[in-house]
Amino acid sequence: MATSQKGRVEKLFIGGKWVPGSADGYIERRNPATEAVVGRVPRGTREDAKAALEAAAESQDAWAALPAPARAKILARTRDILEARKDELARLLSQEQGKPLHPEAIGEIEGTIEHFDYFAGYGRRMEGTVVPSDYPDRTVLMLRLPVGVVAALTPWNFPAAMVARKLCPSLVAGNTVVLKPSSATPLIAYEIVRALEKAGLPRGVVNLVTGPGEEVGDELVRNPLSNLITITGSTEAGKKVMEAASAHVKRLVLELGGKAPFIVFDDADLDQAVRAAVFARFWNAGQTCINSERTYVHEDVYEAFTRKYAQAVKALRLGDPLAEGTDIGPLVSPDQREKTEAAVQEAVHQGAKVLAGGSRPPAFKKGYYYEPTVLGDVEQGWDIVQDEVFGPVSPLLSFRDFDEAIRYANDSRYGLASYLFTRDAGVAMRAAHAIKFGETYINQTGPELLQGYHTGWRESGLGGEGSRYGAEGYTQIKTVYWNYSGDLQVDYLFPYGAEKVR
Ligand code: NAD
Repeated sequence: MATSQKGRVEKLFIGGKWVPGSADGYIERRNPATEAVVGRVPRGTREDAKAALEAAAESQDAWAALPAPARAKILARTRDILEARKDELARLLSQEQGKPLHPEAIGEIEGTIEHFDYFAGYGRRMEGTVVPSDYPDRTVLMLRLPVGVVAALTPWNFPAAMVARKLCPSLVAGNTVVLKPSSATPLIAYEIVRALEKAGLPRGVVNLVTGPGEEVGDELVRNPLSNLITITGSTEAGKKVMEAASAHVKRLVLELGGKAPFIVFDDADLDQAVRAAVFARFWNAGQTCINSERTYVHEDVYEAFTRKYAQAVKALRLGDPLAEGTDIGPLVSPDQREKTEAAVQEAVHQGAKVLAGGSRPPAFKKGYYYEPTVLGDVEQGWDIVQDEVFGPVSPLLSFRDFDEAIRYANDSRYGLASYLFTRDAGVAMRAAHAIKFGETYINQTGPELLQGYHTGWRESGLGGEGSRYGAEGYTQIKTVYWNYSGDLQVDYLFPYGAEKVR
């Protein structure tokens, strides 16, 4: 890495070497709070993507031949390297992405490190299965083997944690990887790859190529050399990936968009529900796939909840992400702010009432800031309730009874996270079964834990991450039928009429 007045200048990492590649210029990354350039990464091409896939394919057999505990040791060493640089990395993350340093950027780097911890443990837990055969002195083994070359496409909203989420299970399973981070936040990915390199990862096992998703990402998906495509990103991109991957029937892990409902029943502890709802909606300035994107409150407590909620949102401190005491930073880009702004304007035009925020904060001359916004009198069919906004905007709706709450919650093409607040265990359990979402948080917020399966239903995805189920998604099973009797034993083989099974 070189540094200039325009921040750090990066290269591509292919086959264990830092190379300029055939890159067609650079992609510039600006700090979303100050608009100053933080760094530049190569605008990679299809040729670079191909070279990276070739390097990954060449090194895959040797990597897979290394025992899983030895692969896990490299993850454990990487963990220590990242831990030693935690504060510096959190600062870079905050400057690149815009989330407050305390506690969010520090928290994301800690979460990233925990991925290396957790998956290092899988080195001794890559379990297959042995089942009895129909015949004597035979057995059936189901071996858990690597898939091959993984193409990992990551988003900008958790640019460190999402990289770890894909690299760690891939590597411990014996796969090699080509990583393409989001062009909006590529810099922190470089630091993770450098840590792996320093920890002794063999050449070509992880390759890093930056560039546009439609070009570099598309090549990684289409090229026959990749065997598994794992993407965390928008549902639109996920659909394109699914289509492109179909030509070679590739394995897929799709972690896509969300539109989480947050349901407050009439017996909920309202103060707790308000605090949780504020975090669940405004964490990372509303740019989290599990952010609550629509809040449903029982009609008997709607007014009380709304009053407290709007007050709490107005008290949030918008500011410099590096400063102590900042609750909310800027949005990641001008585009993201415009999208948020347009969603609010449309809802207001339809009749929504602005209860907090509702515009760009006039005090900020620079940066892509938008006020945390609460909208009342919203209706279920409106776009703001149906489409993912991914910004600090919270539409509120009321419901009459349990069935209506569940019906509203399920009325969505997305199915990732959901939340509910109630003190009635029966209501909680019935709702948890009735809400058709991959995860439900009861009387609490996220984020999700590594030992839980993070999975989107419907258009929120395919497969999942975390837990043994997620780890297994980065492996494939081979069934081995093994006869150790020294005799064929059966009568159906040529020539017919041989002895029956003994
Ligand atoms: P995005 O879809 O724009 O991009 C994600 C990644 O895919 C990027 O690296 C991008 O370059 C690449 N890409 C885009 N189009 C591609 C194509 N046609 N072929 C190959 N690669 C392509 O997403 P984003 O804007 O970076 O992230 C925000 C989205 O991610 C939101 O919708 C959010 O809900 C979702 N997300 C989901 C989860 C989850 O766990 N389900 C977690 C975080 C974010």
